Amino acid sequence: MSRLMISISGIRGIIGETLTPDAVVKYAAAYGTFVGPGKVIVGRDSRVSGPMMHHAVVAGLQAVGCTPVDVGICPTPTVEFATRRHGETGGIIITASHNPIQWNALKLLNKDGLFLNADQGNRVIEIASTEKFKYVSYNELGKYETFTNAIQEHQEAVLNLPYIDVPALQKRRFKVVIDGVNGAGSVCMPEFLQKLGCEVVAINCTPDGIFPHTPEPVPENLTQLCESVKKNNADIGFAVDPDADRLAIVSEKGIPLGEEYTLALAIKFLLMKKRGPVVINASTSLASEDIARKFGVDVIRTKVGEIHVTQKLLEINAVIGGEGNGGIILPDVHPGRDAVVGIALTLQALLESGKTISQLKSSLPQYEIVKLKLELGDADPKTILNKLIERHAQEKIDQIDGVKFLGNRTWVQVRASNTEPIVRIMAEAPTAQDAQMLGEKYLQEIRSLI
Ligand code: MG
Repeated sequence: MSRLMISISGIRGIIGETLTPDAVVKYAAAYGTFVGPGKVIVGRDSRVSGPMMHHAVVAGLQAVGCTPVDVGICPTPTVEFATRRHGETGGIIITASHNPIQWNALKLLNKDGLFLNADQGNRVIEIASTEKFKYVSYNELGKYETFTNAIQEHQEAVLNLPYIDVPALQKRRFKVVIDGVNGAGSVCMPEFLQKLGCEVVAINCTPDGIFPHTPEPVPENLTQLCESVKKNNADIGFAVDPDADRLAIVSEKGIPLGEEYTLALAIKFLLMKKRGPVVINASTSLASEDIARKFGVDVIRTKVGEIHVTQKLLEINAVIGGEGNGGIILPDVHPGRDAVVGIALTLQALLESGKTISQLKSSLPQYEIVKLKLELGDADPKTILNKLIERHAQEKIDQIDGVKFLGNRTWVQVRASNTEPIVRIMAEAPTAQDAQMLGEKYLQEIRSLI
């Protein structure tokens, strides 16, 4: 049996095994105790287990005097946006993001719609584990409210961005295929594309949580979308993950651009409109970094994970940021990964370029990333990483997240997994072949150190 995974960002587990209603009530009550009485926005993705989880969250929150405000099935960025605007004390998203159907999770937000930071998350864990809930009497129980306009408001905020020319997009009438993976973006995304005047072909846009393919929007899972783009002679294809914070793009030729290029495209477009620092995580492609440097702006890298990027972005007033897995963060809307924002920026960039999406991608710096992993057995990952650092002492090393060896237009990042006895190796180079060779070289070297 799997264990319930408890982290600062919430809890995650398998329905019927570890993620039980009592565990959910407990964490919702701990969270409510931590944030205090007031309105808490509650939204969920389309998973089959969503309603069961929702009822447990509502009970836990009401019991400690919080008033859950139900926004229904919504993309994660929509819940973040609604929390920032309407949440008095916070927000909870019921979603396991790209994990398979049997999983679900709670993601906890502060009142600004940001994921809890380490201190805040640890407080919630402590309250849950010591069961120090502030249960209230019958006359102080939280109320229950619904709010049906969250998606509308979120979409409007994106449509109102000064650099999104809605009439011009409507006139251009792009033909777009959207794959909603039957997730939380299934209604929001086709509707949003229609507002942008697109001719929309919606596939897998029934929000029933029955994922028609492995839900992570990486190239190997997008074959149906690629075929549909070709068959329909569409200008572009979009895919989102089940909670619609990550966006992947397929070209008019039916070829995935690779998620790294969702962010690279957005950064280039935005920097043409306004200059300012850019924040990306330690594993993001050099394509994004090269683009930002060309515009003469600072590029700051952080640990992997949305909260790390967001915190730095707010701290230095960055104009855009994100993660290379298709997560664009545009603080002009709200400081969280957002596929609705991603679609608007991509289509506006396509419109202004006058090119096809393939041509637009070719005009960007070209890189390829490979991902490898190696079983460690009983070996201690820390010792191995230290030996590796020693052996490469003359090289340029960065230790923002794991150990990253920086070359000329290349890098290799080695990170120990938190959950399994393995190390993950990522390598980037201008060609896939070079990236593979580079990754293999480090893999062999690590193997010799075990
Ligand atoms: Mg997600």
